[in-house]
Parts: sequence; structure tokens; C-alpha cells
Amino acid sequence: MLPTLLLTALPVTALAALLASQPQEQEASPVRTPRALMIFVDGFVPDAIAATETPALDRLMADGAWSLEARAESTTISGAGWTTFLTGVHFDKHGIPDNQFLSPNAEQFPPVTARLKEARPGAITAVAQSWEPIHRHVTAHANATHSIYYDFYQFDEDYFDDSSVDALLVDAMVPLLRGEPLDLAVVMLGELDGVGHLEGNQHYHAQDELYQRKLRQIDAEIGRLLAAIDARSTKAEEDWLVILTADHAGSRGRGHGLNIPSHREMPFIVSAPWAAPGRVWPAPKAPDLVRTVLHHLGVEPDLGWGLDGAVIGAAPSARPTAALDANLLANPGAEAERGFRGFTGHPDASILGWSDPGWMSAIEYGSEGFTDLHASAAAPNQHFFAADPSKNGARILQRIDLSPLADDLAAGCQVTASCVLGGLPGEVTGLRVRVHFFDAEGEEVADLVLAMGEDSPLEVGHQGGRPWMDLVAVDLVPAEARSVEFILETTPGPGTKGGWADDLSLVISRR
Ligand SMILES: [Zn+2]
Repeated sequence: MLPTLLLTALPVTALAALLASQPQEQEASPVRTPRALMIFVDGFVPDAIAATETPALDRLMADGAWSLEARAESTTISGAGWTTFLTGVHFDKHGIPDNQFLSPNAEQFPPVTARLKEARPGAITAVAQSWEPIHRHVTAHANATHSIYYDFYQFDEDYFDDSSVDALLVDAMVPLLRGEPLDLAVVMLGELDGVGHLEGNQHYHAQDELYQRKLRQIDAEIGRLLAAIDARSTKAEEDWLVILTADHAGSRGRGHGLNIPSHREMPFIVSAPWAAPGRVWPAPKAPDLVRTVLHHLGVEPDLGWGLDGAVIGAAPSARPTAALDANLLANPGAEAERGFRGFTGHPDASILGWSDPGWMSAIEYGSEGFTDLHASAAAPNQHFFAADPSKNGARILQRIDLSPLADDLAAGCQVTASCVLGGLPGEVTGLRVRVHFFDAEGEEVADLVLAMGEDSPLEVGHQGGRPWMDLVAVDLVPAEARSVEFILETTPGPGTKGGWADDLSLVISRR
């Protein structure tokens, strides 16, 4: 409401203009009906958005919260990613790590449409997708009001002809989006991945002409979905969330399936009236999508649903500004999300706030393979960082801007780096910490290392049954330092590639 004083002080014509400029719906309908459209694009290389003309995606990103580094499931295989997109849980729960569909668990972890109906039995939902095993094992449990299915492999002879399966799915969804009281619509587009795989994966690349041609088509399909929403006669009384992600990205020649950034980092876009526009920090992960959809629809998930993930895009987000006497590391104890229960089946958590190019994961204390391992610190602590010993190394890192501390650094500062490291009894731990300082030009100006060798006290500790060792290093910070990199990684060379760590800390203080 406008203050009465202001209204009476204005001339009549100015008052009329002022009232006319107020958005109508603020007066007419203060509470609008939330509705959501989930869009899935298989095999979506994030750099392709900037490299290709994509007006519909650009529109979603312009007013949306987005990331081009969202983390796919670690297997980067379609079956895992399609199911995570629909269910909002990682593959160790939904049971589909790959394309074999050997132990699907969709009865216990059904698609979001079924969860919505559980919370709100009158909800109206529609699911459109084209993959037979998903149809049989996952969306069979979707409890959708409208179920749209075309078999991808009946239409994949030519991805660019009139019978594009993605276009058929959108054809079927458009009238529902335009005219039906839909609460939640799901559209899963599979053909971009198909084009990427052509000719021995030669087209799986952001700069590839054929890949871009298909992405332009997909963008046009998304544009048709958005136009259908815009055409709704009830649009003014509705709040629409349009949310988009993928199952994996990919690379030329390899396709996908590796746990590497070019396969694992994918787009994630949240377009809603409440979304804080801009890049999301820390980067989201695949199961965040379902949580965000339920949040928008006003559904508080039942704890018994066992959903993973978090709501994305609701508040502006950025890495905190560096400050003195505070731990500069984000998520320093792997507590920011749930840990996995050991390495069985090789799930690899994406570790929030860290660059995580390989096989470092967040693991639950006391879980399989770690039943004797307990938190080392007095503080309550559920997870730790661990490098999968069966894989060839692991590494996570954070780079922190120190320019806000320039005056303090000129006056004289010291750095304290600390961690606890552990490894299997009888082995040299595979892990070490490195800290590197860089000047404004990016030249390295100082470093320190926290590590243990074969004769380290950790080995002695192990013989006494102690799995952890605290390590601390203190050093001067060069006055010209403007950024610092903190790296937890497996040591190079032969030896175990396993090990675990917790309570990572990097503190800069005045001397
Ligand atoms: Zn895929």
C-alpha cells in the first residue's frame, strides 16, 4: 500500500498515472498458483550455450539463477542421470548407476510427480519422455495424470527430419501447457546426445556444427514450451518455475561416461519469480532439481522420502569475501551435503564449494569400509573427505581472492593451514595438502605442504591403532599475495591412492 500522505499530496493526474503503473496482479491476486515445468536435455555440453544461438535458453538465464558447472552423477551415464533428474536422489538410492537397469528402486524412490500427488492428491501432472527402460522402470511409478511416451529408437534414423522424437514430445505437451490446469510438467529431450554420438562421438563438442544445429532445434522446442505457458489464459494468476538440467555433458571422441569435468559439469537453470538472477555458488548438483521444484510448489518433502539435494537459486550466492582470523575454506569438513556410505558401487559425491575434478568423495563416518573410523574432532562431525583407493588419484581445490586483505598483508600476516589426515593401517596415507600463494599477476610467491612420509608419525600411530593425525603449518604470507589455492590431493608416484581427511582449515591473521 502507498502511504496516504503521498497520495493526497499528488495532483490527480499524477495519482492516476501512478496507480496505472502498479502491476495489476498485486491488487487482484496476491497469492498466485505455483506451477512448474521441468526440462531435461540429454548430453548437454555447457559451453554450447554461448557458442550457439539459443534465444529461449538465454531468456531463461537472463532472469534466472544458473550454473554451467552443475555436477552430474559420477558415472555420467544416461540411465543414472535420467533417473536422478526424475527422482531427486543419487544412484546409490535409486539403484540405476548405468544403462543396465539391473536393480531399479523406483518404488521406494519414485519420480517427483508421484511425490507431488502423495502430498497433494489433486495435483495434475504430465510426463513426456522417450526412453523405453525409463518408461518401464521409472516413469511407470510416476503416477502422472498425462503420460506421453514415444520410443526414441523408432525415430532416430535422422535427427533432423520431421519425425524428431523431441518434437513429438513437445507437440504432445504444448496443448497441455497452453490450456490445462497443470501443476507440474516434465519434458525429457534425448536427441542432442544422439547427435553427439554420431560418427564415433565426433560431434560431442560445443563448437561442432551438427551439435549446434541440434541445440538450435532444441532451443526452438523449449521456445515452443515457453510460448505455450505465455499463452495460458490463467497466466496472470500463476507463478511459473521453469527449471532445466541434463544427465551429463560429453567430449569429442569419448562421448561420456568418465568422471571428469568435461563429462560431469552441465547446465542448471532456475527461472522463477523468486530466483536470484545470476551464477549460483556453490555449483548445484543433479538431485537439487527435484528439491527446488517441490519448494516452488509449496511442498515440504517428507523426511521418509529420503530426498537428496537442496533448493537452488532462492538467494543471491557468491563465495564469501576473505576475512582475517576466519577459516577461508568453504565446506571445510565435507558437511555441506550428505556423504555416501563407503565406495561400494563407486558413487563419488560432488563436494560443494570445491573444484572436484576426480575421485574425492564425501563419506559417512562408520559406513562400509570405514566402520572403525570415527570423527577426530570434538565437534559433531558426520562426514569426511576420502580418495577412492581403487581409482587413480583424487584432488579437490579452492582458490580464494585475497585482494580484500591487501592492506593487512602489507602490514604483515601469517597463515595457519591445518587438517587431519588418515589412511589404511600399514600404508602410507595417499593424501597431502598443498597451499600456494599467488601475486596479482598469477605468479606463485610462496607455498607450504602438509604431508606424511613412510616414517611419518601416522605410521607409528597406526601401529597403535590410531587412524588420524593432526597436521599444522604456520608461515608468513608474502605482502604481494593476492590469491591463495588450497589443494587436498593424493600424492604423486607409486603407492596407495586412498586416504581420508577432515577438518581442513586455512586462516590468515595479523602478525
Ligand atoms: Zn545421456
